[in-house]
Amino acid sequence: MGKIIVKNLKKSYGSNQVLKGIDMQVREGEVVCVIGPSGSGKSTFLRCMNMLEEITAGEVIVDDYKLGDKNVDINKVRENIGMVFQHFNLFPHMTVLKNIMFAPTELGKQTKAQARETAMKLLDRVGLADKADVLPGQLSGGQKQRVAIARALAMNPDIMLFDEPTSALDPEMVGEVLGVMKDLAREGMTMMIVTHEMGFAREVSDRVVFMDGGYIVEEGTPQEVFGNPKNERTISFLEKVL
Ligand code: ADP
Ligand code: MG
Repeated sequence: MGKIIVKNLKKSYGSNQVLKGIDMQVREGEVVCVIGPSGSGKSTFLRCMNMLEEITAGEVIVDDYKLGDKNVDINKVRENIGMVFQHFNLFPHMTVLKNIMFAPTELGKQTKAQARETAMKLLDRVGLADKADVLPGQLSGGQKQRVAIARALAMNPDIMLFDEPTSALDPEMVGEVLGVMKDLAREGMTMMIVTHEMGFAREVSDRVVFMDGGYIVEEGTPQEVFGNPKNERTISFLEKVL
C-alpha cells in the first residue's frame, strides 16, 4: 500500500485557480520531489493529497480510495498518510514522548504502553532517544523537525508528505533532518517532498516534478530534470537556484 493517482486535479480559492489540471502518479515506495517557484501551487497540491484542501475538480486516488467520494472515510485515509510541515506544529505543552504517543492513543490504535514503546523506538530511529521527556521548547529546530517526523511515523503510515521540511531551519541543522528522510526513502516509504534542497532532490528522488503557475511543467528522473531540463521555465528556475 502507498500509491497515489492524480487525474486532472484543479483547485481554486474563490476565483483564483491555483491548480489548473494536474496529472501524476506516485508508485509504492517511490520518492517524488516537487520543486518550483514560490506561489506555483506546490503546497496546495500536497495538501490536496490528504484533503487538507478540498478538491475543486478532478480526482485524487490514494490506495484505491477516491478522496471526496461519499463512501470514503477521509480520516481512515489520513491515518495512512503522515505529513510534516515547515513549522513543526508540535504540541508545546506536551513532552516529546507525549507528542508522539498522542495520535495512536487518542484514536485508540494503541494502548499507552504500546504507544510508549513505539515512540521510544521512533525517537531512537531519529537519534533523539535522550529527549523523550523534554518539552519541544527546549529543542533546536532540527531536533523539533525530527520529532515531527517521528510523530508522523507513529501511525505507521505508508505515505509521507513533506512540505519544505528544512526551510525554517538554520543551515547547520538541515543535514540531520535530510538524513532521517534519506533513511525513510531507503526503507521503501512512499514519499512526496516539496523542497528547495536541490542536492537532496537530485540524490534521493526517483522522480522530480517541476511546477509553475498551477501546472506540472516538466517531470523526469533527477538526471533528466537537473541534467537536461527541456522546458524554458525549468531552465530559468534552475539557473536561479542552482
Ligand atoms: P507554493 O507552495 O508553491 O508557494 P501555494 O500552494 O502555497 O504555492 O500557493 C499557490 C497560490 O495559492 C498562491 O497564489 C497563494 O496565495 C494561493 N493560496 C494558497 N493557500 C490559500 C488559501 N488558503 N486561501 C487563498 N489562497 C491561497
Ligand atoms: Mg509552499
